[in-house]
Amino acid sequence: PGPFCFPPLPALTALTPPELCWENGAPHSQAFDDVYFSREDGRAETEHVFIHANRLPERFANWHKARAFVVGETGFGTGLNMLCAWACFERHAPAAARLHLISTEKYPLPRQALSKALSAWPTLEDYAQPLCTQWPDAVSGIHRLHLSERVTLDLHFGDTAERLSLLDGQIDAWFLDGFAPSKNSEMWQPSLFHAMAARSRPGATFATFTCAGVVKRGLKAAGFRWQKVPGFGRKREMLAGHIDSPPPDTRRCDTPWFTPPPPQPAKHVAVIGAGIAGSSVASALARRGVAVTVVDKTSPAAGGSGNHQGALYVKLAAETNAQSRVYLSGLMYSRRWLEWLDPARTLWGESGVLQLALSEKEAQRQRRFFANHPLPASLLTLYTRGKLEHIAGLPVAGEQGLFYPQAGWVRPKALCDRLLATSGVDYQQGEVIQLRRGDNGWQLLMASGDRLVADQVVIANAHQANGFAQTRALPLQPVRGQVSSVPLPAGVTGPTPVICAGGYVPPVLDGILTFGASFVPNSATTELSTEEHQRNLDELRQSLPALADALESTGLSAEDFEGRAAVRAASPDKSPYAGPVPDANAWQADYAVLGKDATRVPTQVGQHHPGLWVSTAHGSRGLASAPLCAEVIASRLCDEPLPLEAPLADHLHPGRRIISALIRRQTL
Ligand code: SAM
Repeated sequence: PGPFCFPPLPALTALTPPELCWENGAPHSQAFDDVYFSREDGRAETEHVFIHANRLPERFANWHKARAFVVGETGFGTGLNMLCAWACFERHAPAAARLHLISTEKYPLPRQALSKALSAWPTLEDYAQPLCTQWPDAVSGIHRLHLSERVTLDLHFGDTAERLSLLDGQIDAWFLDGFAPSKNSEMWQPSLFHAMAARSRPGATFATFTCAGVVKRGLKAAGFRWQKVPGFGRKREMLAGHIDSPPPDTRRCDTPWFTPPPPQPAKHVAVIGAGIAGSSVASALARRGVAVTVVDKTSPAAGGSGNHQGALYVKLAAETNAQSRVYLSGLMYSRRWLEWLDPARTLWGESGVLQLALSEKEAQRQRRFFANHPLPASLLTLYTRGKLEHIAGLPVAGEQGLFYPQAGWVRPKALCDRLLATSGVDYQQGEVIQLRRGDNGWQLLMASGDRLVADQVVIANAHQANGFAQTRALPLQPVRGQVSSVPLPAGVTGPTPVICAGGYVPPVLDGILTFGASFVPNSATTELSTEEHQRNLDELRQSLPALADALESTGLSAEDFEGRAAVRAASPDKSPYAGPVPDANAWQADYAVLGKDATRVPTQVGQHHPGLWVSTAHGSRGLASAPLCAEVIASRLCDEPLPLEAPLADHLHPGRRIISALIRRQTL
C-alpha cells in the first residue's frame, strides 16, 4: 500500500477516561491543564467560534438537499459544541432537512461526568438527554447514536488523525477543537490537517478558536484557505476558512474494486424481503426521507426472523479480526438502537448472554478471546465456575463462561412489524421473479404479472438473494434451523440470561421456554422434525442439565414440543453481505490479472449494477448484524458518512468473494 492507502486498523482498546477537576461546574483536564469550555460563558463562545464562523444559521436555513448536512469535530469533550449545532439546526433548518454530526474523542468522559458538565446548560437539557442515555462504552471505534428522527451523531472514539484516516464520509463544516496547540501538540500535526482536507466536501468550511502558527501553516499546507476573524471574549483573533478543492480519496488504491459507486438520487426504493434485514433497511431509508416499498413473497418475518423469540448475541473469533469488530460494533449498535426505538422494552429484553465453555478447548479459546478483546466489564466479563450459576439463575454445565451484559433477546416478528410501520414504508405481498434495469431505474417483475418501478432496489431475502441474474455470483448457503418450544411447567425455572453453548436458551417469554436451534447446512426445508426436537433437547441437557431433567420429569418428551423451522443464509466466510451489487462479469474481466499475480492491482474501480444493493448472509446473528448493515446501506445510498470504518465496510462488500476466488484461482 502507498502512503495514502488505509492504515492498519488500530488495536481494539478500552479508552482511558480523562482526569478532571471541576471549577464552578466546568470540567478542567488535569493531563492537558486546559478547560473544556470557557469559564466565562462556554455556550456563547461555542456560538461565536464554531456556529457563526461556519455560517451555520444561514447554511442550515438554506439546506434543501436530500442528503444530511455533515458537521465534523475534533475532540467531542462534553458535547457542548455538537448540542449547540443541533439546537441551531432545529432553529433554522427546513422541516425535511437532516443533520449528521461526527466527532472524535480519545479520552471519553464517563457518563456521569458528561451529564454533570452538560447540566450547566438548562436550555440544552432536551438535547443532552438522548446523548446521555445513549452514551456508549469507552471502546475504540465508531458509535452511531440516533439523537432524533433527523439528527445522527457518530462518535469516533480514538485518536483524531487516526479516526479521520478511516472515516468513510465527507464533511461540510469542521469544528477544529481540542485543547490548545501549546498544550496538546500531539494532536495538532500535519497528519490531522491532511486528513481533514481529504475528508472535506468541496467548499467545506472550518472554524477554530486558535490562531497558532502551527495551525495556520498546517491548514494552508493541506489546501485550506484561512483568515483571521475576531475571537471570543478576551481572545483577539481566531481562524475561519474553507477548502475549494479537497484532494481525491486514494485510500482504495490497493483495493480499487471496493470503490463505492457514485451516488445517485433516490426518491423511491424497493426492498425485497420483509425479515429483519429488509425491514431494518426500509426503516433506515424512510427516516432519511426516501419512500420505500417492501415486497415479500409470503408475509413480514416469514423466514428466519419469524421466531417467537430470538437471541441478540454474537459469536466472535478469538482474534480481533474485521469480522469480530463488525459483530461487536453491530451488537453495541443494535442495543442502542433498540433502546431508542423501544425505550419501554416491549420488543426486547436486556437479559445478558452467557456463553458457556463446555470443553477445555472452548475454554482456552474464550481465554484467548478475552485477552485479545480488552473491553470494559459493562460489555464483557469472563466468569469461572463459582459465578456461573449465580449469573445463569440455575445449574449449568461447564467450568467457564463469557458474559455479555448488554446482549439479550428480541421479539423478531414484532420488531419487523414495528419497523415496517415507519412512516414512509409501504408493504406489499408479492414474489419478485426478475429485476430489469430501465432508463428510469428498476422494474421488478412479479410472479403475478404485475410490475413495480423503483429508483433503486435492496435485495434482502436471505438465501434467495442470489436468485436474480444480477446476483448469481453471490455465494450463499441455506442453513435450516429448528427451534423447540414448550410452555414452562409449574415449578420449573428457566435461565435468567440467554444461555449459549451449541445452541441458545433465552429466558422464558410469555410462559414459553424456547431452545435450539438445530443447524442443518444446505437444507432449505421448513417442516418440523421430531428428531431435531430431540437433538435440541440433547443440546439443552449438555448446557443446562437440571432444566432438561426437570422438563423430562414432568413427562415431556420431544414429541410434545412445538417449534418452528426456518432457513437462514450464510456466506462462505460467515460475514454478512451489505453493500452495492458488483457487476460480476465486469469484475472477472477487470481483475482477471489477480489470478496470475495478486500483487498486480489494476487501477480500474469496481463496476456495480447501478442502484442495486444487498443485505443478506446474517446467519443466526441477524439481530446483531442486520440493523448496522441497514445503516451501512442507507448511509451509502444517501451519500452520508458510514457507521463503520471504511475497511470494515469493505469487509462486508458483496463483491469480496469474487476477488478472493480470482486470487485463489477458484470458480465461484
Ligand atoms: N468540543 C468540546 C465540547 O464541546 O465540550 C470541547 C473539547 S475539549 C477543549 C478537547 C477535547 O479533545 C477533549 O475532550 C480531549 O479529550 C480531546 N482530545 C485531545 N486530544 C485528542 C486526540 N489526539 N484525539 C481525539 N481527541 C482528543
